[in-house]
Amino acid sequence: MPKLFIQAKPVLEKIEQAGFQAYFVGGAVRDYLLNKQISDVDIATSATPAEIKEIFPKTVDVGIEHGTILVIFKGIPYEVTTFRTESEYADFRRPSRVEFIRSLEDDLKRRDFTMNAIAMNRNFTIIDPYLGKAAIENQQIRTVGRPEDRFQEDALRMMRAVRFVSQLSFSIERTTYQGLSDHGFLLEKIAVERILAEFNKLLAGENKTEAFKILRETGIYQFLPGFKGCGHVLAEYEGLDTAGLKELIENWTLLVHLLKPADIDSFLRSWKMSAKQMKQIKKYVFYLNRRLQGSLNKIDMFHAGLETTLSLEKIFCVLTECPEEAHDTDQIESVYQSLPIHALKELAVDGNDLIQWSARKAGPWIKEVLLFALEGVLEQKAANEKEAIREWLCRCNLI
Ligand code: ATP
Ligand code: MG
Repeated sequence: MPKLFIQAKPVLEKIEQAGFQAYFVGGAVRDYLLNKQISDVDIATSATPAEIKEIFPKTVDVGIEHGTILVIFKGIPYEVTTFRTESEYADFRRPSRVEFIRSLEDDLKRRDFTMNAIAMNRNFTIIDPYLGKAAIENQQIRTVGRPEDRFQEDALRMMRAVRFVSQLSFSIERTTYQGLSDHGFLLEKIAVERILAEFNKLLAGENKTEAFKILRETGIYQFLPGFKGCGHVLAEYEGLDTAGLKELIENWTLLVHLLKPADIDSFLRSWKMSAKQMKQIKKYVFYLNRRLQGSLNKIDMFHAGLETTLSLEKIFCVLTECPEEAHDTDQIESVYQSLPIHALKELAVDGNDLIQWSARKAGPWIKEVLLFALEGVLEQKAANEKEAIREWLCRCNLI
């Protein structure tokens, strides 16, 4: 039994001693049955949040309106969620009201897929009213209940189905698959942030090629921001060997490169990316274009940084279908290490030096001349010493 469950067992026991039911549920139980590494265990209980707070001295309110309390037990946080039904799905997204209930079976019934609707008690006995274990054995993703009902209640479940294909290499059961084909349009009602979270998990999965194929064949992709009419781009992505692209940034860079949106900013904004993510992706896309025009020179490498340069090389190999062993990371690393400096602050001169030498007033010219000096140093036209740089700038009539 994984250590995380053993550590968490006393939490279940304490809740039961107080007269309530408590079970392990969700992804941890599924992953345990799959012999996969478990990252965190979730607990479902018949106790209400207020009752849980009375049992445990240390708790944090994280989603009390949905019935979730974080219980800190022996320094480890556990999400403890009251059994609930989700009634009145007003607009194809999250329930407008949750109702706390006392029945485990009804709580499992509101969960998305049968493989995620399995509970395990403190003796590690499995409670599986919706045949989730069989679905896991058959490697099948199927909704609890009728797919059309469940996708209409919460359309995000369609994206979850596809991201589980990518993560688990399962297939989607026939009627569930049909449900995806019929209800993709409901994704337009879902908050983009929730779609992005699932899409990012999809991109990080082992089987993303198959997941892309399902997005395309069910037509769901049409309802992802910026993908309308871009089925051919998905097909192109599927045709590439992207298995080596493990990082999110690498996958997003490749996608943006293939999609070629008219305006990258508005594309990324439509995905509700943070300013930081947008900046990073734009930087990668910029240097990928340079890489596609020829090897990155030392100045590019300096500005891109080693990590980015290596990632771009991987993307370049994916796009040009060269075998992974053909790209020489050692060579790139040694060129990078041989750069005389690796950050602008290591440059031996600064703006004050330039003002002194030229007797000119401060202005935008300083940045330009500093960049010129930087390039001179990187290309070893001048040593990274004050005097050498001054001479070089003089010779170029810049000061
Ligand atoms: P992961 O390993 O990626 O965390 P997970 O299955 O634990 O996968 P979570 O998003 O953490 O996924 O959700 C925990 C559980 O809550 C799921 O296993 C499922 O039972 C239920 N669940 C999550 N999202 C939904 C949803 N949109 N509709 C119904 N049930 C859901
Ligand atoms: Mg989880």
